[in-house]
Amino acid sequence: MTAPEPAATAGSAPDQPADLMERVVNLCKRRGFIFPSAEIYGGFRSTYDYGPLGVLMLRNVKDAWWRAMVQCRDDVVGLDAAILSSPKIWEASGHLANFTDPLVDCRSCHERWRADKIGDTCPNCGSTDLTEPRAFNLMFKTYAGPVESDATVAYLRPETAQGMFVNFANVLQTTRKKPPFGIAQVGKSFRNEITPQNFVFRTREFEQMEMEYFVPPADSGRWFEYWLEERFNWYRGLGIPEDRLRLRHHDPDELSHYSTGTADVEFRFPWGWDELEGIANRTDFDLRAHATSSGERLEYFDQATGERYVPHVIEPAAGATRTMMAFLLAAYDEDEIGGERRTVLRLDPRLAPYQVAVLPLSKNDRLVPLSRRVLEQLQPIAMCDFDVTQSIGRRYRRQDEVGTPLCVTVDFDSLDDEAVTIRDRDTTEQQRVPIDSLVADIAGRLRR
Ligand code: ATP
Repeated sequence: MTAPEPAATAGSAPDQPADLMERVVNLCKRRGFIFPSAEIYGGFRSTYDYGPLGVLMLRNVKDAWWRAMVQCRDDVVGLDAAILSSPKIWEASGHLANFTDPLVDCRSCHERWRADKIGDTCPNCGSTDLTEPRAFNLMFKTYAGPVESDATVAYLRPETAQGMFVNFANVLQTTRKKPPFGIAQVGKSFRNEITPQNFVFRTREFEQMEMEYFVPPADSGRWFEYWLEERFNWYRGLGIPEDRLRLRHHDPDELSHYSTGTADVEFRFPWGWDELEGIANRTDFDLRAHATSSGERLEYFDQATGERYVPHVIEPAAGATRTMMAFLLAAYDEDEIGGERRTVLRLDPRLAPYQVAVLPLSKNDRLVPLSRRVLEQLQPIAMCDFDVTQSIGRRYRRQDEVGTPLCVTVDFDSLDDEAVTIRDRDTTEQQRVPIDSLVADIAGRLRR
């Protein structure tokens, strides 16, 4: 049998190490979560590529959201709208006129900054000689077709939300939903941010998870409160500790041009509290704007009551890439096993890149085929890694560092007793389990 490991001592500290951000960024690079894009050319303007583990985790974040917002409800349907979009959409929505950040230039070092983020001093050179702020539109403009003219202008969407509004009538007709109901979408959005920063917290290309929930106007306050609670609990349920999560209501002067009420779910990042998700009462602003611009009727007719109205909209708008980063920061921990320091990502099994690692004790040519059989049994129910290199202790550490909740070790006894050892990431406890019942056992452990 595999030698039992000493128990893990408690996590490093209630608070995080001062250089938590650096440690997580390094881990992301070293273990294949997130790479700087075009690295062999020196990188490209704060863009990032998601590596073999990052793509698994990001997918898990999006799947967890979709499961909560669409699969486990009967009042929300999905959509996947085009990224390349007509200027008419952005004119009607107000983005062409209003989706701007205040840009200032430093006259001394010529760096450019977002005025609302820096005060009156250049963070680069300390000069106070800054230009007056001017409105800078964040949308990426391009041309659809071979001719670059005003008639072929198109925009990369800066949010997924408008795809839901312009398809409101299509969805209503095809699904026969009635308010309250929602349309959900996950996908890329693009903003020409003046200062992308803090790793994947703010990038020019990112992924959003947004839902537009259409309600009778009189009910919008109640639904706004409902979604605040739902969304807050989603993060908590996936393992973000309560002391690192809060809801912050916007002051009236902070509200977007369309909103009568907004609250952010905020996470305590290493640099302080910052937004993970905005939940906004968008009123009937968007549907009315698109109805006026397009000439289409975007309203709901209730046949039972004979009432016709434009629904109000509650929008929980989250960032998938930003949220993944928060989950990584919250999960990062260090503890000790038998006097040896280990790094462990205490990720919820639903978010971890691999749920299971199958580890033959050695490369022995009788162990490897049995281990492969075990692997093939588990693959349909869990994302599995298979690792035969290095000592078993080193392999456990490698799995701990990427958050794999369970390791299954196949050893020489397995050849006789048809059993394997399941080892738990957090407690390092090991348990012998017959191969016959392994799939059911693992499924039970992973189910929440
Ligand atoms: P900020 O004020 O930080 O620029 P915002 O309030 O404009 O952001 P929203 O328009 O509400 O952001 O977007 C919804 C969510 O999309 C945000 O809460 C965030 O998680 C994500 N998001 C927005 N911009 C970015 C970005 N540049 N990079 C990564 N994620 C982003």
